[in-house]
Amino acid sequence: MNFRDFYKPGRLTYSFEVFPPKSDAGIADLIANLKNLRDLDPAFVSVTYGAMGSTRDLTRDLATRIKNEVGVTTAFHFTCVGTSRNDIKTTIERFKKEGFELVVALRGDPPQGTEKFIPPSDGFAHANELVSYIRSTNGFSIAVAGYPEGHIEAPNKEIDLENLKRKVDAGGDIVITQLFFDNTDYFDFCERARKIGITVPIVPGIMPISNLKQIEKITKMCGARIPEKLHARLQENEGDPEKIREIGIEHAIAQCRGIMKQCQPWFHFYILNKSEAVRRIINALDADVIARTLSLPKGTKQSS
Ligand code: FAD
Repeated sequence: MNFRDFYKPGRLTYSFEVFPPKSDAGIADLIANLKNLRDLDPAFVSVTYGAMGSTRDLTRDLATRIKNEVGVTTAFHFTCVGTSRNDIKTTIERFKKEGFELVVALRGDPPQGTEKFIPPSDGFAHANELVSYIRSTNGFSIAVAGYPEGHIEAPNKEIDLENLKRKVDAGGDIVITQLFFDNTDYFDFCERARKIGITVPIVPGIMPISNLKQIEKITKMCGARIPEKLHARLQENEGDPEKIREIGIEHAIAQCRGIMKQCQPWFHFYILNKSEAVRRIINALDADVIARTLSLPKGTKQSS
């Protein structure tokens, strides 16, 4: 199985990203939410990996449960944080034995309380090294992370993009982007990426906002920007959680529609382990696709 096989021109395709909850109740809730989303037929569900390998086992256990109990194709995330080459080898081999074929390969963030990423002794300093290593083991298709607004540590967007190209050249099959709220950042990113020879799918990461404080914290950590107008609207409605969720869904639908007009209808949703928002977004996009198909002359195939 290869990530690239999911992305066919003109075909609405989406994946969901979830994180390992800390409690058994949280895990049960997440499994129930994913079962509830199964009928939407996501290309895959990906499970994140925590700092310092703290959720390494949680990631594997959860990814295995999702694969077996929900019955959807599952990818796992893997980072270089606090992990020697030997550890990486052992962990990757275990995932392989358990039947996983899709990995999102990352450097990872510096552990909490530290500013700078310190490569572990006998570990990897950058994601491109991890990608090369995983590629050399064969048997995995690899997704890598891209940053429409530039990675927070990068001196500038151009250097960051050259570093993205290293990851793709090392064996990245697709790029999944960091969340962003202004499509112009994504369009500009794709254009610059194509110019320097990155030809693989660049799948936009979309996060429906559901809580103002939470999104302010997330964007601060990852260096993404909430456009002023959207931020002001969220702030005006801060006391009304239902309204915040509505604004989040409305904005995500508008973002996806804007992307579908100019690019392929391919999305990676950061669903924050919930199901309602993403279902509403996908229903809206599905309706658009159906309407567009119906409006085509008879016998015309749907293109993007
Ligand atoms: P890299 O590609 O190594 O980039 C990190 C920085 O180093 C960038 O500034 C880059 O420009 C620079 N750089 C890269 N290569 C080189 C090089 N060869 N020489 C010099 N400089 C270089 N974090 C988690 O902890 N767990 C997760 O599960 C997780 N999932 C994510 C999923 C997606 C889709 C995205 C977008 C991010 C995710 N993250 C996750 C966050 C990610 O780990 C952080 O953004 C991290 O700081 C960078 O990871 P990276 O793989 O992009 O690193």
